[in-house]
Amino acid sequence: MRPVRFNINKKPVNLTDSVMMADMPPGHSGEGFFATQLSHVVGLARKNSIWPLPFATSCCGIEFMATMASHYDLARFGSERLGFSPRQCDLLMVMGTISKKMAPVLKQVYLQMAEPRWVLSVGACASSGGIFDTYSVLQGIDQVIPVDVYVPGCPPRPEGIIDGILKIQNIIQNEDVRRRSSPVYQKLMQEYNIQ
Ligand code: SF4
Repeated sequence: MRPVRFNINKKPVNLTDSVMMADMPPGHSGEGFFATQLSHVVGLARKNSIWPLPFATSCCGIEFMATMASHYDLARFGSERLGFSPRQCDLLMVMGTISKKMAPVLKQVYLQMAEPRWVLSVGACASSGGIFDTYSVLQGIDQVIPVDVYVPGCPPRPEGIIDGILKIQNIIQNEDVRRRSSPVYQKLMQEYNIQ
């Protein structure tokens, strides 16, 4: 029996200089120090590590799949890790037609997410009921949960969804760490009957 020969030649190492670095938050720097606000640092970390929960009920969900796939690759924005457990996610992405029967389920999923949490409404159906102006379809998810960003389109292209993610990132980056305990936010939650 002839011995098996392995090719022990080393593979060429591909070095890349295209790694993108996050911009530094505004602050004051000098020799050996950099000072900034806690909100800026927390916002920077949160912004680049969003864990989305895809709540996809129909065709807009297919566009989301394209957004996650290699051509558009949402992982480039730090959102590689999709979660289907609300308790481990901080961005609820609602994509598709939401029937009135489905609305309490959507609200329960939102309630199970820990603060801070954000909501992206993707497409005409989630945002306004879309073409389904019928007795059975919810005419916009903002009737049951607060929405941070709306993405227009029927369906929106992956570029539109990515634009929505960038806008969410912008909101996260600039959010004060105390916003969630502010009277304005508490009032918003009360309007949705959320404790
Ligand atoms: S907005 Fe259009 S593409 Fe998206 S779920 Fe509704 S009908 Fe389908």
